[in-house]
Amino acid sequence: MDGPSGSGKSSASRGVARALGLRYLDTGATYRALTWWLLSRGVDTADAAAVAGHAGEPRIEVSTDPENPRTRVDGRDVTAQIRSREVSTAVSAVAAVPEVRARLVALQRGVIAGTGSGIVAEGRDIGTVVAPDACLKVYLTAAGLARAARHAGDQGTSVAETEADQARRDGLDAAQSAKAADAVEIDSTDLGLDEVVGLIARLARERSGLSCVPETTR
Ligand code: C5P
Repeated sequence: MDGPSGSGKSSASRGVARALGLRYLDTGATYRALTWWLLSRGVDTADAAAVAGHAGEPRIEVSTDPENPRTRVDGRDVTAQIRSREVSTAVSAVAAVPEVRARLVALQRGVIAGTGSGIVAEGRDIGTVVAPDACLKVYLTAAGLARAARHAGDQGTSVAETEADQARRDGLDAAQSAKAADAVEIDSTDLGLDEVVGLIARLARERSGLSCVPETTR
């Protein structure tokens, strides 16, 4: 599942994984984890050469339980810390560095390959780069204000500040983001979470012949 920031990808992906008995991978968390580590080391995240030089250093681990996805850096649980506004502000510049993407895409592919039972992965380039052979690709969108309203308050920010932050991040992320040609686009502006999850779960079940969904939950 791909889509812009605040489109509801995380809630929808986790809901679909829960509904279908699949694992869940938040690829954004891997970029946030590296960004958190760089900031904690005092590395200038706007300096691409410095970021590239350190990109391979921290050990980043993500758990794939949709009920409780956790992120660890060098053994430390940073699940809460990586959601800070400081990390959100710096992450796009880090994610634009080719060495970072090479390392984290490899890590993400390893997580996906290591999950025998199927997985819902969310990000910006899942359908195009990370898992181009996925059996179902969804591109989730929502109108800017709806996206901001959902996330305002997460970091003590107003709707207007959240909308500005998201627009800024989407601009910076544009080069790394793409809708796969074979993705199903869903506009969640006027849909509730249950409706979005139900819609995607139905699409996945329809493709169960392509092994989208394990036999036990078809
Ligand atoms: O999904 P989330 O908003 O947590 O992602 C944080 C950032 O990580 C994005 O703004 C983007 O810069 C980067 N990202 C990426 N490719 C992905 C997932 C996230 O470049 N597949």
